[in-house]
Amino acid sequence: MTTVETMKAAVVTALDAPWEVKAVPRPRPGPAQVLIRVRASGLCYTDVHLSQGGLLPLELPAVLGHEPVGEIVEIGSAVRTRKVGDRVGTSALQAGCGRCEWCSRGDIIDCADQKLLMIHRFGGHAEYLVAEEAATMLLPDGLSFEQAAPIFCAGNTVWSGLRAAEPLPGARVAVVGIGGLGHLALQYAKAAGFRAIAITRSKDKHALSRELGADEVVEDGEALARIGGADVILSTANSYRTASDALRGLRPRGSLVVMGAAGPEEDLVIPNRTVFPQMMVNRQKILFSQQNGREFVHEAVQLAASGKIRVLTETYSLDDARKAYDRVSAGAVRFRAVLVP
Ligand SMILES: [Zn+2]
Ligand SMILES: [Zn+2]
Repeated sequence: MTTVETMKAAVVTALDAPWEVKAVPRPRPGPAQVLIRVRASGLCYTDVHLSQGGLLPLELPAVLGHEPVGEIVEIGSAVRTRKVGDRVGTSALQAGCGRCEWCSRGDIIDCADQKLLMIHRFGGHAEYLVAEEAATMLLPDGLSFEQAAPIFCAGNTVWSGLRAAEPLPGARVAVVGIGGLGHLALQYAKAAGFRAIAITRSKDKHALSRELGADEVVEDGEALARIGGADVILSTANSYRTASDALRGLRPRGSLVVMGAAGPEEDLVIPNRTVFPQMMVNRQKILFSQQNGREFVHEAVQLAASGKIRVLTETYSLDDARKAYDRVSAGAVRFRAVLVP
């Protein structure tokens, strides 16, 4: 008789319903996979979109979580570059098809047949996780699990977006939305030597923005223009309105990088009367960015390990996953909720 080993996980059993913390079968690693004992797993607003039936269809029951870190406790028979005891993290994207044009270019982020945590296999909000050996990244010594987890989505997202804009040395980088992504965007901009500017109408975020590294804090695009504008505007909010307004402060050849998705009812508007002519004349760009490749995860993790990035976290036990989810979906978390199984 064989007994199936189980693990505790936060399970989505129905769309738009509370997560259930319960026992599920513990996954076993295939030949090129590793089994990770999850030590921290960050919650992302993407978890909310997916739980509500947005972005991609979920096969239920599902376990979400796409910024997990932990220790390898078992390796598959073909694994050569990872060993039991390694501290690693991984992201949602586990593998491409290996056969299409994009995979052939080494660019699995554009593959149409990706294997993703949460969608094709259980994600990180659990005691254990199976990941592809090739999709794991070693954690530098001295970077704690709790600090490392949010880098694998949030940190990677903001750093990928900033790098996508290809800012020149000394560039002025403005951040819209000082939340889960934005509080990291300010820190990454500053850590990389750029001039960091926070755009926020929340008075209570002015002092905090400066603590996070903002050289200047302004209320809107007009105020941004008055202080000399920005070469890069990183839009990290779950709404496009502030980003549209901030365009008034974009410098010639500057880029707006959109990395936070709004709800289905909201369009990104380029105001014709105020902004459109300026964007034409000054040859400005709007870029859309998510996580643009493995090199940026590496850079984001290294900057975090250098001590220049401090993720502001609220930690929850796996048993409290439902409470953590409710706070994320209500926008109440300051600034990243992390499950610590
Ligand atoms: Zn995410
Ligand atoms: Zn492919």
